[in-house]
Amino acid sequence: METASTGEPEPKQTTSFFRLLPVTFIIIILSACENRKWQKPEYPVAVVDSAAIKQQEKQRQDSMQKISIAKKKIYLTFDDGPNKGTRNVLQAVREENIPASFFIVGEHVFDSPKQHQTWELLKADSVIELCNHSYTHAHNRYTSFYNNPSGVVADFQRSQQALQFSNNIARMPGRNAWRIDTIDHTDIYESSAAIDSLHAAGFNIMGWDIEWMFDHKTLAPDTSVALMLRRIENMLEAEKTKTPGHLVLLAHDQAFQTEEALQLLRLVLQSLKNNPDYELVLASKYPGVQ
Ligand SMILES: [Zn+2]
Repeated sequence: METASTGEPEPKQTTSFFRLLPVTFIIIILSACENRKWQKPEYPVAVVDSAAIKQQEKQRQDSMQKISIAKKKIYLTFDDGPNKGTRNVLQAVREENIPASFFIVGEHVFDSPKQHQTWELLKADSVIELCNHSYTHAHNRYTSFYNNPSGVVADFQRSQQALQFSNNIARMPGRNAWRIDTIDHTDIYESSAAIDSLHAAGFNIMGWDIEWMFDHKTLAPDTSVALMLRRIENMLEAEKTKTPGHLVLLAHDQAFQTEEALQLLRLVLQSLKNNPDYELVLASKYPGVQ
């Protein structure tokens, strides 16, 4: 006997599967929420090539160094202060904001209240540097001064103690002498023993490559500034300085007491500062200074 058909289609297995599908999803999601606490999404990590970055940095540093090496170094040094010209020199140096080294005569610091005030102004300035140019400046009796090596050492040590310089750079009074690293030069042979003694006592002794001359009677600086600047250029070009690429310029504070002289100094400082081939540097940065 044949079973009568109800007319309803037989439920199919696929239909029940589709009915259960949303439930299955909910269960999966709920269980996922239960089992896994929130985690910080993981973003794709950028690929950092540290070797390439290091290489780039090295190239940048090398090129900076080449620019710095290519620039010729000029060391502006001013001798014999504090005296009547020192404040003008300090003013010009400050206006241009350039490094300069002042070689101080110890006795001059204590000669008058005004000179002592000038010394205080020098000490308070962070751009310049102060170095030892002896205590007595040999009282301008150079021959007898240099005939007494231990006296020369004592004279410099006296200034070092009284003024507490932050470096051990010394300049000999009345002599262009050098004792820095392998540079060993004395302009007047008879002074050698005293200068050697000072060097042995721990001082770097710096002379100069070019001097800005002045008239010893009127104290006016030599006005042929263009010629001096050309000499600086030629000397560096011909590598005739004590260290090629480095030039020490000597000037004297007392030459810059007048407004005209100050104006001339400004011109020289601006000209050196604005020359793209030059870099102005403190004496303590001279190669070999320890
Ligand atoms: Zn001097």
